[in-house]
Amino acid sequence: MDQGRTNYIGGEWRPAVSGETFVSVNPARTEEVLGTYARSQAEDVAAAVAAAQAAYPEWRRTPAPARGAILFRMGQLLEQHKESLARQMVHEMGKVLVEARGDVQEAIDMAYYMAAFGRLPNGYLVPSERPDMFCAAQRVPVGVVGMITPWNFPIAIPSWKMFPALLAGNTVVLKPAEDTPGLAVRFVELLVEAGIPPGVVNLVTGYGPEAGAALVESPGVAVISFTGSTEVGRLIAGRCGQLMKRVSCELGGKNAIVVLDDADLELALKGALWSAFGTAGQRCTAASRLLVHRSVKAQFRDALVERTRALRIGVGIDPEAQIGPVINREQLERIHQYVQIGQSEGATLLVGGRILDEPEFRPGCFYAPTVFDNMHMDMRIAQEEIFGPVTGIVEVNNLEDAITKANATQYGLSLSLYTRDVHRAFRAMQELEAGLVYINLPTSGAEIQLPFGGVKQTGNGNREAGWTAMDYCTEWKSIYVNYSSASELIRAQIDTQPDGQAPAPTD
Ligand code: ADP
Repeated sequence: MDQGRTNYIGGEWRPAVSGETFVSVNPARTEEVLGTYARSQAEDVAAAVAAAQAAYPEWRRTPAPARGAILFRMGQLLEQHKESLARQMVHEMGKVLVEARGDVQEAIDMAYYMAAFGRLPNGYLVPSERPDMFCAAQRVPVGVVGMITPWNFPIAIPSWKMFPALLAGNTVVLKPAEDTPGLAVRFVELLVEAGIPPGVVNLVTGYGPEAGAALVESPGVAVISFTGSTEVGRLIAGRCGQLMKRVSCELGGKNAIVVLDDADLELALKGALWSAFGTAGQRCTAASRLLVHRSVKAQFRDALVERTRALRIGVGIDPEAQIGPVINREQLERIHQYVQIGQSEGATLLVGGRILDEPEFRPGCFYAPTVFDNMHMDMRIAQEEIFGPVTGIVEVNNLEDAITKANATQYGLSLSLYTRDVHRAFRAMQELEAGLVYINLPTSGAEIQLPFGGVKQTGNGNREAGWTAMDYCTEWKSIYVNYSSASELIRAQIDTQPDGQAPAPTD
């Protein structure tokens, strides 16, 4: 790929109209430049949206099984290139290789799952209260879908948004995160190889406040699907509200693991380590709160500290590494600031709490896995999303106290509870305020055939994945057909009722 020719518009790879570019670097070795990408502005976005609009009528009329067949080929291509995509991901955003493979696998699963939807029912046949009347409701596409994606799942998240939208007959403009443009380019290249016609998928690389904001503003975009920070989500949702544009937001989380006194502590520990430190804590489902029953707290805390100390931190490509770098220097400093806030609020730092600057970590963005004790729910570190390898223990007295504290944040993405008691488990399943509830499992680990999303400030009511995947990018069209041979108007609600009367002549 030529330097900066990374916009894919109407079936052609192009640079930004302005010719401006930006670079992407390896977060584990920040002097290593990985590529140069188009820094798109409103004019590039306008061209991409126009291409998507032009391609829409034909794509919408393409039979759904044929659209599904292209997604199936995409699944095969992702499988074929899984290893190279995973390796590129390690370099571009830092997660360790096994996790990067998992990221690609989610997209493979999603491709096959959505491909099958091409031959599944697409609506309902509904009874009518009138004779000789056919009533049906059918899911239809909305037009051009604008997608703004984050860097933490650079292949999985575009696939969650794009495959359902394409299967439903929409055309697409993707604006990927500025930290992971290279994987977005690969993703689109594979879609082209899979047979996506020109204009059906368009890519504009660039910055959020420039290319992203232009996509939100574009009158040709019918829906925006956004995953990212609550701050930006609020901005986008507000703007979409004013523009009467549909918007789907997947935002922050402040997820918790509850460990009750009857929990399998070994299992809970493994779950806590994975939830808190997997992807260096940069998952929207990461557990940054551990709500532990007071009778097992000391034992749990000591074991957690010991295992946290033993975690191997390193460059993600190293098979020994369990935790890679965080995404960039700005985020590294933000994480450290939160740790300082936690200390000033009176939480006890047990382990970690520092930027790793030993020679083997330089120049990279590595943060030591961090555990606090004596965290309280009114502290900022217990309320705000940190998005790094930082977690804290909050003591709880019983199930009720645990549920109250688990629910005591503005977010509601993922909550988990460890217990061997079926009554407590079911009680928690009913009472926990979250889009995802796990029993005896970590807060991360969603499968693509179930709805994914959160309640409260985590989102605006939409769900990605599962059978709900197409809700955000389709409308329902209700269709009524009168097949009676009689020349008689039968009015719903009026002529079908015993007190109904034929219409009086108006003149
Ligand atoms: P993160 O903290 O994960 O980087 P952001 O919310 O900053 O989350 O970014 C997620 C996506 O939103 C990225 O693709 C980014 O470019 C985009 N973005 C950031 N600011 C804006 C904005 N003002 N308008 C539209 N998109 C934006």
